Amino acid sequence: MTKYDVLVIGGGPAGMAAALAAHEKGAKVLLLERDVRLGGILNQCIHAGFGLHYFGEELTGPEYADRFEKKLAKTDVKVILNAMALAVGADGDVTVLSPEEGLVHLKAGAVVLAMGCRERTAGAIALAGTRPAGIYTAGMAQKMCNIEGYLVGRRIVILGSGDIGLIMARRMTLEGAHVERVIELMPYSGGLKRNIVQCLEDFGIPIDYSHTVTRVVGKPRMEGLYYAPVDEHRKPVLSEEKFIPCDCLLLSVGLIPENDILNGSGVEMSRVTSGAEVDENRMTSVPGIFSCGNVLHVHDLVDNVSHEAEIAGAAAASYALKGAPETDGGVFGVNVGKGVRYALPQRVHGGGGNVEIFFRTDNVYKNCKVVAECGGRVLYSKKRMIVAPGEMEKIALDRSALDGDVTVRLEI
Ligand SMILES: Cc1cc2nc3c(=O)[nH]c(=O)nc-3n(C[C@H](O)[C@H](O)[C@H](O)COP(=O)(O)OP(=O)(O)OC[C@H]3O[C@@H](n4cnc5c(N)ncnc54)[C@H](O)[C@@H]3O)c2cc1C
Repeated sequence: MTKYDVLVIGGGPAGMAAALAAHEKGAKVLLLERDVRLGGILNQCIHAGFGLHYFGEELTGPEYADRFEKKLAKTDVKVILNAMALAVGADGDVTVLSPEEGLVHLKAGAVVLAMGCRERTAGAIALAGTRPAGIYTAGMAQKMCNIEGYLVGRRIVILGSGDIGLIMARRMTLEGAHVERVIELMPYSGGLKRNIVQCLEDFGIPIDYSHTVTRVVGKPRMEGLYYAPVDEHRKPVLSEEKFIPCDCLLLSVGLIPENDILNGSGVEMSRVTSGAEVDENRMTSVPGIFSCGNVLHVHDLVDNVSHEAEIAGAAAASYALKGAPETDGGVFGVNVGKGVRYALPQRVHGGGGNVEIFFRTDNVYKNCKVVAECGGRVLYSKKRMIVAPGEMEKIALDRSALDGDVTVRLEI
């Protein structure tokens, strides 16, 4: 195969934006996508709500993807569909299987990982009860409804209040199903506030916080489920179990970055995000391997995915064409303190210009202060009326002010 400067794995919004950014920096780019089309998860997200920040207008998922596809079509970026990356080796070589090329080992100047996420399943949460038909992950139900044209149930319960579950509560209602309720283990929603309002409250769909499904019943088709409140250790209080008759349970219980192909690569992974640990250029611990989008950490807004991928794509091109950047300003860790679950990037280089730090809190906090410190000096401090785990936060720090590790924390 032709020699490429940058090889991008995954043709969703992250992969497309990374490929375009690398191309704009003068790199020869190869984009691999295992599906039959580009666009990733956006192809099945036919609701509006994409692009408000990036394009300044409200688009559907396919419309958002289409804008990037059209830009790609005007470049010489080589796109191979039906191409599944099987493994990334320690020296950045990528094993790929595709009908067009067969089984090949590719080596490019830099690799950008943009493989997105998969959903946690009934097995992953050890759902108790029989194994009837009618249990789907919310994203699978979305694909069946929006792409295949099937309605997965008529009386539906949704477990988990992440954005996919909320979007599907509205979608199923619009399709004529009855959504009985959303059941959420935590005392707060894992999704965006706007989705709670627009997808549940506007349609009168109730949500039970601090509850979980205790078991499903029915064979071969689901006939109902039991659910109960949970105590402070998130254990169900079985004495308060209630039954809901229903023929379908949708699971929106978390996304897992699809990093399995990295097992032999030596890339250091974060136990909190399940993505790679990266610097501000989104370069992993293995020089020349970059990561962006949902495979790096789960995003709620695709606009942030596109921006992040542009950083990774441009940096990958620069690495491939000019080598590793000079790092005379030192490298500092980004740690988290009270109230913060994770921050990204996990390390930053000193030097000039601003660096954006993205983070998620570990709970809902009202009237708190976001603080970033370095060597006992406060670099950033701002009051916030409310912060929540479902909404990614971001702060900007001046890199020239760094002379040690940074800690991002909340004053609660
Ligand atoms: C149901 C749902 C609703 C959403 N609603 C909104 C919304 O209203 N507004 C908003 O801004 N955002 C929304 N989002 C979030 C947004 O869509 C995602 O953040 C974004 O799509 C992530 O982009 P990505 O490219 O990282 O991943 P994906 O879109 O998942 O793309 C990853 C691509 O990589 C490919 N791939 C994976 N592994 C391999 C491999 N080994 N080899 C080759 N190819 C591979 C996959 O086939 C896929 O095409 C929603 C997401 C979901 C799931």
